[in-house]
Amino acid sequence: MVERDDDRWRARAACRSVDPERFFPTADVGALYDREVARAKRVCRRCPVQAVCREWAIAYLPHGVAGGMSEEERRRARRASARRVRRAELGTNGPAPVLRTDRAHIIAAGRAALAEGVDREEIARTLGVTRRTVDRWAATVTASIIGGGR
Ligand code: SF4
Repeated sequence: MVERDDDRWRARAACRSVDPERFFPTADVGALYDREVARAKRVCRRCPVQAVCREWAIAYLPHGVAGGMSEEERRRARRASARRVRRAELGTNGPAPVLRTDRAHIIAAGRAALAEGVDREEIARTLGVTRRTVDRWAATVTASIIGGGR
């Protein structure tokens, strides 16, 4: 799990030498959006820290292209991760125990949802944790979730 504030990997990021605007498409949908996303992803493809960036971006970054994924792709990854964790917790996926990394993903998904302004009760319900747990996560989520830039 990439810690939110551990950004040592950024020093090796391929996007350091690229205009940051490239990672924020000007279009919302359509052919232009697809072209802009593809253009940003081309930078990510040659990035030596793509894997760690992707993990970080799924957990913390709601906007733009990062880790070789669009924001919608990261949202889907977050939801899929939360569903996997939920299934594992409910035991519908067999007797496999919840893995530590899955717990980390629950926390990451919860914090990301908080940063996006999702209702705390809904987060608790979706991720299968108590409201108190969500309140605890909220205490660690700061106003600026992008932090550090690219
Ligand atoms: S956004 Fe992430 S994966 Fe893409 S170039 Fe930058 S650091 Fe690398």
